[in-house]
Order: sequence, then C-alpha cells, then structure tokens
Amino acid sequence: MSATSGAQKKPPRRAAKPAGKQPAPRRATPAKPSYVPAEGEKYMSQRQKRYFREVLKGILKSIRVNSEKTIDTLKDDVAALPDDNDRASKEAEFTLELRERERERRLKQKVEHAIKRIEDGEFGLCEECGEKIGIERLVARPVAVYCFECKQLQEHREKTGA
Ligand SMILES: [Zn+2]
Repeated sequence: MSATSGAQKKPPRRAAKPAGKQPAPRRATPAKPSYVPAEGEKYMSQRQKRYFREVLKGILKSIRVNSEKTIDTLKDDVAALPDDNDRASKEAEFTLELRERERERRLKQKVEHAIKRIEDGEFGLCEECGEKIGIERLVARPVAVYCFECKQLQEHREKTGA
C-alpha cells in the first residue's frame, strides 16, 4: 500500500502564511459603530452602557488578536533572513511594529479606563467639567473622556504651550 494516501489525516494547524510581504500593521479599530438612541431615551441608559461596554471590549479583543499576529510574524521572518540588508530593513519594520504596539498599549489603557468608568457610573461625563460628552462623540470615539469644549481647550493649550 502506498504511504501517501493515509498522510492527509491531520489538517494543518494553521493556514500557511503567504511568503510575500505582509500588509502594513493592522489598525485596531472596530467595525463601523453606530448607536441610535430611542426617543426620549435618557443619557447613559442601561442600553447605552451595554452598547459602549461591548464596543470597548471589542476594541480590547482586536488589540489582542492584532498583537499576537504581529509577534508571530516578526519571529518567523527575522529568523528566516540570512542577508544583512534584508535584516536591516526587517529591523526598520520591527521598529514600526514596536511603535504600533506602543500605540496599542496606550489605546488599551484608555479602553480599560473607559470600561472602569462605565462600572463606576462616570462614563459619558467629561473628566474636566463633568458635562455630558454626548452620544455622537462617544460613538465616534468611545474612549473619549473630555467633552468637545474641554478637548479643544486642551489642544489649544498644548499647541500654544500655555
Ligand atoms: Zn468638559
């Protein structure tokens, strides 16, 4: 009997990576968010809290998946390069990846902070002035902790160095 026919039993544990270039680092952004409050629905209703908690947890999840993927790729690729030039460019790529990782780490902290604010009943209120941040703004940026005015003031201060 031929030995080849029985060899297909176990499937590959993971789909093989394409040999070519990987796409640029993936952004950890969730699918298009949207939230339509019911008529007369009060600000930060249970439904809204549930919605934002889910969105935030989704961001955490995509950060986790993303960083695992990247680490895998880097390990595989660097080890496979015998050429110094290739290695150098791979190292440049590595630096970019690290920067991306750092960005993700900061985002992760913001997301965890936002989830904690939901639990504390503070979510949706500006950390600076205590006013409502607003549903639209939060849908666009669930990790926002400042209302539009305070954020603008802050950016203005940063720009002018005041
Ligand atoms: Zn404010």
